[in-house]
Amino acid sequence: MKTVTPETFAAQAGGPIEPLSGAIVPPIHLSTTFERDPDNAYSKGYIYGRPDTPTVRMTEEVLNRLEGGAATLLFGSGMAAATALFLSLERPAHIVAPKVMYWGLRRWLAEQTAAVGLSVTFVDNADLDALRAAIIPGRTRCVWLETPSNPTWVVSDIAAVAKIAHAASAIVGADSTVSSPVITRPIEFGADVVMHAATKYLNGHSDVVAGSLTFKAKDALFERAASVRRDIGAILAPFEAFLLMRGMRTLHVRVRHQTASALTIARHFANNGRVAEVLYPGLANHPGHEIARRQMPGGFGGMLSIRVAGGEAAAIRTAAHVQVWKRATSLGGVESLIEHRASIEGPTSPCPPDLLRLSVGVEDVGDLIADLERALIANA
Ligand SMILES: *Cc1c(COP(=O)(O)O)cnc(C)c1O
Repeated sequence: MKTVTPETFAAQAGGPIEPLSGAIVPPIHLSTTFERDPDNAYSKGYIYGRPDTPTVRMTEEVLNRLEGGAATLLFGSGMAAATALFLSLERPAHIVAPKVMYWGLRRWLAEQTAAVGLSVTFVDNADLDALRAAIIPGRTRCVWLETPSNPTWVVSDIAAVAKIAHAASAIVGADSTVSSPVITRPIEFGADVVMHAATKYLNGHSDVVAGSLTFKAKDALFERAASVRRDIGAILAPFEAFLLMRGMRTLHVRVRHQTASALTIARHFANNGRVAEVLYPGLANHPGHEIARRQMPGGFGGMLSIRVAGGEAAAIRTAAHVQVWKRATSLGGVESLIEHRASIEGPTSPCPPDLLRLSVGVEDVGDLIADLERALIANA
């Protein structure tokens, strides 16, 4: 299985046939404890369910291959994965993070890090000069990026960020949740660690909360992150790991369909008088379009936002009138979701109040367009 593409590897869940029964679908190992050898060693590599389990490790191997990493760790959520990475940095540590990013992580970085010996500077995502100026030589240990970033889809140039960060001996951590490895594999562009809210595209069925870190090298940072996961008990449970593996087997077909539909929807509403602006990296007028063309070889992804002409009230009314799209948070599932983000993110958010975030599912794109068009007409 070493010679096949990551897509084939994932479709076959890494390929192993279960030796006892010949089962094609890998079994779920629920055991929390594993037998010691007579000579007192643990030759099979498993001791206890908090550090590591077979179903989790099998699923990690598939994701590791998808991202082209050296090692992957699965966590109980995307937030657990990201915070574990920050907690693994050598202290004192300074972090540079983007102003526009997943709001829950931005809030944690802004409010909770001082107590654990971390300091954070937030910079404009697309401004490399601001990034360079924010780095404190000898102190900045991590430059964090999210591309495209929630919910306005600012595109960060991973290779350019990596060059600046590495010159200061800082690592680059990339939240690649929205891209998924079908679209961008950040390690190829210079990232040191790739993070996913596996809750989203990787699982793809809105029925698992999970997170991951994939490391370019199986180095001391990886070892510290594995220790943090073990010590705080943040590992993903076996059943969730099984579901995540099941989801990743169809990742490529789902994301390709979602990407094609999102581009169709973006182009359609770019010329609609009831929409003030469509935010999507695949549109030629998007500020990050040129970088996206280089950095998103798999397409521009399944996420876009629209700014509704008529402002916040019209946006909320539009969301109230959809029937096919579901009014809900989260993204990356097979069902299409619509959300008024400013209501969720609160007053400190950089999200425009007239913005609706769209997560495009795998439904018929004509149904999605017709439903949104009806809702935009009904909002008046
Ligand atoms: C959802 C999300 C997260 C957080 O993941 P959880 O699994 O909800 O903890 C982080 N980053 C992005 C971009 C997300 O969409």
